[in-house]
Amino acid sequence: MKHDPSLDLEKKFRSYAPGYWADRGVSGEDWNSHKWQLKNRITSLSQLEEHLNLSEEERSGVILSGTKLAMAITPHFFNLIDRDDPECPIRRQIIPRVEETWVSPYEMADPCGEDSSMPVPGLVHRYPDRVLFLVTDRCAAYCRYCTRSRVVSGAGEQELDTDFEAAFQYLEEHTEIRDVLLSGGDPLLFSDGKLEKILSRLRSIEHIEFLRIGSRVPIFLPQRITPELCEMLQKYHPLFMSVHVNHPRELTLEVKEALERLANHGIPLGNQSVFLRGVNDDVEIMKALVHKLLMCRVRPYYLYQLDLIQGSSHLQASVSKGIEIIEGLRGHTTGYAIPQFVIDAPGGGGKVPVNPDYVLQRNSERVVIRNFEGRTFEYPEPAVQPDPVLDY
Ligand SMILES: *Cc1c(COP(=O)(O)O)cnc(C)c1O
Repeated sequence: MKHDPSLDLEKKFRSYAPGYWADRGVSGEDWNSHKWQLKNRITSLSQLEEHLNLSEEERSGVILSGTKLAMAITPHFFNLIDRDDPECPIRRQIIPRVEETWVSPYEMADPCGEDSSMPVPGLVHRYPDRVLFLVTDRCAAYCRYCTRSRVVSGAGEQELDTDFEAAFQYLEEHTEIRDVLLSGGDPLLFSDGKLEKILSRLRSIEHIEFLRIGSRVPIFLPQRITPELCEMLQKYHPLFMSVHVNHPRELTLEVKEALERLANHGIPLGNQSVFLRGVNDDVEIMKALVHKLLMCRVRPYYLYQLDLIQGSSHLQASVSKGIEIIEGLRGHTTGYAIPQFVIDAPGGGGKVPVNPDYVLQRNSERVVIRNFEGRTFEYPEPAVQPDPVLDY
C-alpha cells in the first residue's frame, strides 16, 4: 500500500494558531474570544489577498459571491488553509469560485424541497414525528456548497422570515411531534440568553421529548463553546448535537477541546459530513476523519451525497464513489466509526440510505450474503411454522 506522508499530519491533533495572524500582534485573550473571531472574519477580496494568491477562478468567485452566498471565514478556520497547496481541501470548502455561477439543468435553489414543507415560515415538517426549525440565517462562516444558500447569509434575494410565535403554536398543537432539530444558519451564533429562551419554550411543550442542535460552530468557531454555554445547554437534556466536519484537518486541538467540553456536559455528539470532490472523496482521508471523530467522542452519523444546489457541480463526487468509501470502512474499521451514506432525495423525498450490496440473493428459503472480504455465506430463512390453531 502506498504511504501518503501528508496524511500522517492530518491524523494528529494540533493547533494552527496564530498562523496567518502571527505578525499582527493579536493577544491570546482576543484570539480566544469568539467575539474577536467574528469581528475579524475575512469577508472581502482585499482581506483575502493579504494572505493568499488567488486564482482567476477564485477572484471572480469572490466578487460574484456578494449577490448569492456571502463569503465569511473566521481567523481560526482560515488558518487551516495551506497556501502552498492549490488543491487545499479547506480552501475548496470556503473560498468562492466562479464555478458557483454555472448552473446545470438539474440543479435547484431549494434542492430538498424544504420551502414546500413549511407549515409556518421557518419550520420544516417533512417527517411524521419530527421537525426542522430554522432559527437564524447566519453562520460563523459560509460553506460554498450550502444546501440552504437560497436564504442563508443575507446576500441572496430570498429571505428566511421565521415566525417564532407561529412556530411554537404549531408545535404545541401538533402532539405527534416528539423531536425538534434546531438549525439555520447556525443556532450557536445566538447569545446564551436568546438560545435559552428558545430551548426553555420548547421544553415547556410536554410532547417534545428530544432536542437537537445542528451546528458547525464547534468547528468554525470553537471559542464559542464556553463553559457557560455548556452549563446552559445541559439544563435541556436530552439534547444532542450534530456537528459538521468534512476533513481530518478541521479537527484541531481547539476543536477537540470544544467537543470534549460538550461531551462532558452530557451532550451526545454526531457528525454530518458532506461528500465533496477533492475534499473527502478518498477512503484513507475518510478513515482518518472518522478515527479522529471517535477520539473527540463524536459518532459519525451521516455522510451526505451533495445536494443538487445551484453552482455546486465542481464539488460533486459520484454516488458510486461514496458507496465504495463505505465499503472501504465496513469491516475494516470500528463499526461506530461508519456513517450512514444518504441522498436527500431531490425535490423533497427526504433522506434515503444508500448502501453497498451485501445481500447477493434472497428468496423465501435463504439469503446469500458476502462479507467485507468478498467471501460468500448462506443463511437459511426459518421454515414456515405450522399454525398451532389450524393444525390442531
Ligand atoms: C434531516 C432532517 C431531519 C432529521 O432527520 P433524522 O434522520 O432524524 O436525523 C428532520 N427534518 C428534516 C426536514 C430534515 O431534513
